Amino acid sequence: MDAEDFDQLISSLTPREENEEFKLYQNTVAVACPVCEEPFDDLVVCKGASTSLDQTEPLGLCLTTQEERPLLFTHKH
Ligand SMILES: [Zn+2]
Repeated sequence: MDAEDFDQLISSLTPREENEEFKLYQNTVAVACPVCEEPFDDLVVCKGASTSLDQTEPLGLCLTTQEERPLLFTHKH
């Protein structure tokens, strides 16, 4: 994903949570996931090249990168 697409995507989303490892955005307007083209629930922008996340429920995940930072798109089916 290039920087322009990323900025456009982030501008449509609602920031929910931020810590040292990641920033989480909620997709309140049903933006399509750039990977599978289905609307996603949340976007997790990792701040480093690697991170670990605690999952509290089973989720579908799509993964891409933006300037080597992992972007995780979650789908709650
Ligand atoms: Zn997806």
